[in-house]
Amino acid sequence: MIRSLWMLFTVALFSLGLSAQAAVVLQYHHVSEDTPPSTSVTPALFAEHMQYLEDNDFEVLPMMDVLEALKKGESLPSRTAVITFDDAYDSVYTEAFPLLKKRDWPFTVFVNTNPIDAGRRGFVTWEQMRDMAEHGGTIANHTADHTFMPRLRDGESRAQWRERITDELMVAEKRIEEETGQSVKVLAYPYGEYDNHVKDLLGDLGFIGFAQNSGAIASHSDFLALPRYPFGGVFGAMDDFRTKANSLAMPVTDVRRYQDETRRKAFDDVVVPAGSRPVLVLELEDASIAGRINCFASRQGAIKTEVVDGTTLVAIANEPLSPGRVQYNCTAGSSERGRFYWQSQQWLVTDKDGNWVHQN
Ligand SMILES: [Zn+2]
Repeated sequence: MIRSLWMLFTVALFSLGLSAQAAVVLQYHHVSEDTPPSTSVTPALFAEHMQYLEDNDFEVLPMMDVLEALKKGESLPSRTAVITFDDAYDSVYTEAFPLLKKRDWPFTVFVNTNPIDAGRRGFVTWEQMRDMAEHGGTIANHTADHTFMPRLRDGESRAQWRERITDELMVAEKRIEEETGQSVKVLAYPYGEYDNHVKDLLGDLGFIGFAQNSGAIASHSDFLALPRYPFGGVFGAMDDFRTKANSLAMPVTDVRRYQDETRRKAFDDVVVPAGSRPVLVLELEDASIAGRINCFASRQGAIKTEVVDGTTLVAIANEPLSPGRVQYNCTAGSSERGRFYWQSQQWLVTDKDGNWVHQN
């Protein structure tokens, strides 16, 4: 009941445009013209993104402050953004950091510590990391070796997996603390990949987890799989950036998944075999929003949606999913011009026999 009241309150605040219990988290890798396009934005585009945030009165806040506020159900400025970088590539220090420092804006670098420890070319050094940490940088965990967290190795038991992944997390957390004095216990999943085993382990170790599927974050979000907007490749041109930076968290009260359209068997995980057409069900606070939602799937365009009982939105892919990471993205217009509610679901699709086949 209290939660429902909060939700109504949040929706009311959204429509007034004053404040919100929500924020967007922006995710970058390289800020360079010379790195793989799919994970890069050019320095010029990054500068345009930052200028847009400045010109449109966004509050760029420290990640931990935003997470704390949302956990406590406190409201945040209506346009709140968190800036994050994964992998600690050198262009973050040379290209992005000067623009952030100039504005006195906080940011977070999720670092996989092994390449930094090995002094690998293309990555920042610990000294540069300390410089960033002293000027608004939060340094957080991206595992030691950038591993595919949900995957069991050949012949590995679940217990062995748990030990290996715990080690990945704790080694990185320890190295970050030794080098920068920080230990915030927030992880960005490498490749954005997680499943329920990974989330359970993270929760047991007291971590918060960031994925990399789209959506704004809010008090009701899953703090073990928080969405972020990745920019690079086809994502991040100014019209795309504007839409995402201004997005609102979809006011859902429940999210359910089913393995197939019969919806007989609730399905609590996100890993599905090739050929599946998993179903996403969103319970919405408000029937008028349910009726306005459109959903899309990676490589399929618009997909089938149906509103049941007024506030329940059911979405299913048109075509069977093929191996890889697949997202269902659902959006709906809000009462604020140019601001869309956004909710996404990532599926990890194995081959028909449950083997992991995709890379990167
Ligand atoms: Zn990464």
